[in-house]
Amino acid sequence: GTALRLDGVEKRFPNGTTALEKVELAIAPGDFVSVVGPSGCGKSTLLRLASGLDQPTGGTVHTSGDRVGYVFQDATLLPWRSVLANVELPAELAGADKAERRERARDAIRLVGLEGFEKQLPGQLSGGMRMRVSLARALMMRPSLFLFDEPFGALDEMTRMRMQEELQRIFAETGFAGLFITHSVTEAVFLSNRVLVMSARPGRIVAEFDVPFPHPRP
Ligand code: ADP
Ligand code: ADP
Repeated sequence: GTALRLDGVEKRFPNGTTALEKVELAIAPGDFVSVVGPSGCGKSTLLRLASGLDQPTGGTVHTSGDRVGYVFQDATLLPWRSVLANVELPAELAGADKAERRERARDAIRLVGLEGFEKQLPGQLSGGMRMRVSLARALMMRPSLFLFDEPFGALDEMTRMRMQEELQRIFAETGFAGLFITHSVTEAVFLSNRVLVMSARPGRIVAEFDVPFPHPRP
């Protein structure tokens, strides 16, 4: 099966802007696909459609599996809740049993390398660490598809490189399917096994290439 499939997708906004046109995309389980392109080419729109946050005006969007994880650039954590309580939140909202969600949260925290920081508040953490909390919170739900919207865009260079390596390791360990939006071609090439290039007005996929292993370092 496919983790995500877009067929002939079009997105036209009420003001007449066509953000996406004739987008074809299929992501298999275990695929990590990046989308690069200039600002305004429709990357965020594509991700919103993939997540179900918005509907296409033409074509179809299909996701297999019931869970989609979403990681944004600004790690929207609740400042009054500890790292552990932030990571547990989605399972809490889903009504998961307390012992079970605690165990899953601890697993996710271990996976992102934040063991020992469970009781800290987001305000006590660096930007890189807050991004890890956000990643752990998404991992916690064990999504079959992960959507990343420029998650490392606001980080300094050193932190960004470390986070790229972390994400590559986590991906290798968990094997989720990923769709990763970025401005950076080097980041796309480092992280993914397939890169899609978009152009603007209207937003379309204009090129696509596979990345051979091992991935070159940016
Ligand atoms: P990117 O993420 O690549 O920067 P976006 O998906 O945000 O691009 O936007 C694609 C195009 O759609 C842009 O021209 C943008 O101005 C336009 N757009 C995005 N959202 C809306 C909206 N709600 N209404 C009208 N136009 C929009
Ligand atoms: P940033 O690069 O945004 O400052 P880091 O992830 O590098 O964020 O964390 C900042 C500091 O916190 C680092 O100096 C590091 O020593 C410490 N730190 C980060 N992650 C861990 C960890 N898993 N275990 C112990 N210390 C950590």
